[in-house]
Amino acid sequence: MLGAHVSVAGGLHKAFSHGHKLGCDAIQIFVTNPNRWSGSALSSKQVESFRKTHKQSNIQQVIVHDIHLTNLASPKAETLDKSTQAFAWQLDLVEQLGLEYFVTHLGSHLGAGEPEGLRVLSQSLNQILDQSQSATILLETTAGQGRNLGYRFEHLQQIISQSNQPDRLGVCFDTCHVFAAGYDLRTEENYYRTFNQFDQIVGLSQIKAFHLNDAKSGFGSRVDRHDHIGQGNIGPTPFELLVNDPRFQGRPMIIETPEMNKMHDWNLKTLRQLRPAIPLDEPLAD
Ligand SMILES: [Zn+2]
Repeated sequence: MLGAHVSVAGGLHKAFSHGHKLGCDAIQIFVTNPNRWSGSALSSKQVESFRKTHKQSNIQQVIVHDIHLTNLASPKAETLDKSTQAFAWQLDLVEQLGLEYFVTHLGSHLGAGEPEGLRVLSQSLNQILDQSQSATILLETTAGQGRNLGYRFEHLQQIISQSNQPDRLGVCFDTCHVFAAGYDLRTEENYYRTFNQFDQIVGLSQIKAFHLNDAKSGFGSRVDRHDHIGQGNIGPTPFELLVNDPRFQGRPMIIETPEMNKMHDWNLKTLRQLRPAIPLDEPLAD
C-alpha cells in the first residue's frame, strides 16, 4: 500500500483528493497545525464530511501524525501536562474520524537520562490509553537526534512490554531514521540483517506502517534529514526490497520526502517502478 503525507489545506476531507491525485492507496495527515499546541475542535459537520469522503474514496488507510511539539517523556511537569492533553485531544479526533493509527515519536528525556525518559513515556502512554477507546498508537523509530528516545529497537520493545494495553501499540518503521540511528540498510545483506535484528528485539508483526524516506544525513549520524527516494545516502536497494517484501504486503508505506508539492509525484513513481514491471496477477498481452 503506497502513499504519501498530504496536506489538509481546504479542510481535512480534502486530504483524499490530494492523495487521489497522487494515486495513493494510503495517506498520512496532521489533524491540526503541527507547530501549535492547541487546535480548533472539529464540528460534527467536518467529521461527517471526512467520514463520507473516506467511504467514497479508494484510499484504504489514513494515518494521523502527532504534532511536532509533544514530549510524553519530558521531565518538566508543565510540558508533560500540555503534551498529554495535546496527544489525548488528537487521539480522540482519530477515533471520531473513524481511523485506526496515530503515529508519534518517543519524545526527549532532556538530560534526565534514557531510563528515566522511557519510564515517564511509558507512564504517559498508559494514562492516555486508559482514557481513550480504540485507536492504536504507532511508535516511530527515530534518528536519535539530541536527547531523543526511540533510536534503539530496545526502546520500542521496552515501551510495548511495559504497556497496560500492548495490543493498542505498534511501530512505524522510518527508513531514514533507522539508517541515521546506525542500522544499515544499504545492501541486501544489511537489509535482512537489520530486519532480523528488529524481529528478534521487537517482532516484525509490530510494524504496522512504514515511512519511506531516503537520508540526506549520514549513516549513524543521529541527524534527521529526509531525502528523495534513491537519491540520498541510503540509495534504492532497501526501497526495492521493501515494496516487494512479502512480509510487509498490505502495510501502508508513506513517503515524507522533501518538496511535497513538487516532488511527491516523482517519489511515488520511483517507488512504483521498483515493483516488478508486470504484476503476477495481470494476464500477459499477446
Ligand atoms: Zn517519519
